[in-house]
Amino acid sequence: MTGKLYLCATPIGNLGDVSARCLEALAAADLVAAEDTRRTLQLLNHFEITKPLTSYHEHNKREKGAYIISLLENGKNVALVSDAGTPAISDPGEDLVKMCIERGIEVTSVPGPAALISALILSGLSTSRFAFEGFLSVNKRHRAKHLESVKNDTRTLIFYEAPHKLISTIEDMRKVFGGERRAAIVRELTKIHEEVKRCTLDEAAEFYSENKPRGEYVIVIEGADEKEAASENEWEDIPLKQHIDKYIAGGMTSKEAIKRAAADRGLPKREVYNEYHKGAKASEE
Ligand code: SAM
Repeated sequence: MTGKLYLCATPIGNLGDVSARCLEALAAADLVAAEDTRRTLQLLNHFEITKPLTSYHEHNKREKGAYIISLLENGKNVALVSDAGTPAISDPGEDLVKMCIERGIEVTSVPGPAALISALILSGLSTSRFAFEGFLSVNKRHRAKHLESVKNDTRTLIFYEAPHKLISTIEDMRKVFGGERRAAIVRELTKIHEEVKRCTLDEAAEFYSENKPRGEYVIVIEGADEKEAASENEWEDIPLKQHIDKYIAGGMTSKEAIKRAAADRGLPKREVYNEYHKGAKASEE
């Protein structure tokens, strides 16, 4: 019989948040696979659990994943623990879960803390519909593309960020979402210095220009205004020519209107120019 993979959520700061089921699962497992073995060893020592530990992280997930699968296939039970919080959320646990599913190995969850949920419920922003966006890429172009892709999303948006990148991320968000967009910058959840800064992106930028970011952060952003998002996306339902003519009627030159329509549609300017003039010519004939 194959074993089972237990996805064990662990505290994101306060050890008092560990669940009784999590301790049971750790104590009963044949092996604990941990993203950071030193951190998990502290947790196990604190609760006087002695277990073989192995590392499973971004840089060894292939070989270690195969090793863990072989143990599971040989009937061993494995508890997977991430650096902190819920495994498989912004960590390589996701890959191990997929590997288990592909091989028909049973996976179960031992739920508990997840920074994104605590940050969301403390944000004061709408919790009825939200989207978890994880970490933004370090690549400038990919970051911009990611932010643009959610600019008109009316759901509350949740991002993870490292302290040394917080200021530049807030700056990039200001550029794309606008400085008036409301946010909650949530820091050090469940720890002594837990803090929630509820403000606009402009206010956040000003605050962090004077206060160095320290600790772990979650950025929660208010969703786009329904009406604004609808009017911004209006062009999706109209032909290109009408889209450009609308901007011209609003006072833009045809060059400006073509540039703006190309940006809206994510198309090269040249292509939009050619298409527009082809259409304009056809309607003259
Ligand atoms: N699996 C984790 C979870 O369930 O939240 C997330 C792992 S991800 C690699 C680590 C990121 O989570 C940090 O960079 C930070 O953005 C966020 N995070 C984790 N613990 C946090 C805390 N105590 N306070 C604020 N953010 C935290």
